[in-house]
Amino acid sequence: MRGKLMIGNWKMNGSLAANASLLTDLLADSVDVYCRSAVCVPSLYLAQMQSLLTGTSIALGAQDVSAHEDGAYTGEVSATMLRDFAVRYCIVGHSERRQYHAESDMLVASKAQRALAAGITPIVCVGESLAEREAGQTEVVVKRQLAAVIHANGHCISEIVVAYEPVWAIGTGLTATPEQAQKVHAVLRAQLQVATAHADRVSILYGGSMNAANAADLLAQTDVDGGLIGGAALKAPDFLSMLKTASR
Ligand code: PEP
Repeated sequence: MRGKLMIGNWKMNGSLAANASLLTDLLADSVDVYCRSAVCVPSLYLAQMQSLLTGTSIALGAQDVSAHEDGAYTGEVSATMLRDFAVRYCIVGHSERRQYHAESDMLVASKAQRALAAGITPIVCVGESLAEREAGQTEVVVKRQLAAVIHANGHCISEIVVAYEPVWAIGTGLTATPEQAQKVHAVLRAQLQVATAHADRVSILYGGSMNAANAADLLAQTDVDGGLIGGAALKAPDFLSMLKTASR
């Protein structure tokens, strides 16, 4: 059994004070939380969060990683640096990075490779734009994005986490229906099955305006193994509610 995995993506939000306060609120009411969980925080706050999360059941995650091992790459953060702060998960290929930083499928695959080599689980984001969905290209797009990561990572592929995040649903309040999500998750699972005998170990998360009201229906789908949550992860009552739903 995979068990549910719920990941908060804080994006470029927070401050020393706000992070501490959010975490205090999350931990104050975590009695019924049994699912696996993590928060992916801005790099500058990894040290703070490493210290605050020690001894809790919430793992630490990063939002990006360099595709390079080390060297003259100003502004970048390497996988081994993330490892120094006990980072367990790292998002790669979030649509905001693909869109605003022109990250290609190949680059995302290299980032996943770096994370795996450092013992960090990459959360590989795939998802189609609205235009691509309307053109009937959803499966082609997500399979192309995942294929690059499979190709670069070979037998390690069962160690990744996949997040299906339709671009049109991220931060928009629009959510894929549970049926739409399941359909794409099943396609991704089938693709993984061709690549590895251990595809059933791979958690495939849904992301895109998941919230306390729609989480239960999405999480009830056979191949929806959890959530990658942006906006709602910044509100302790909402994130807690989703963690509890995932723990049932
Ligand atoms: C995300 O940033 O990965 C995300 C899913 O955001 P939101 O939940 O706000 O749509």
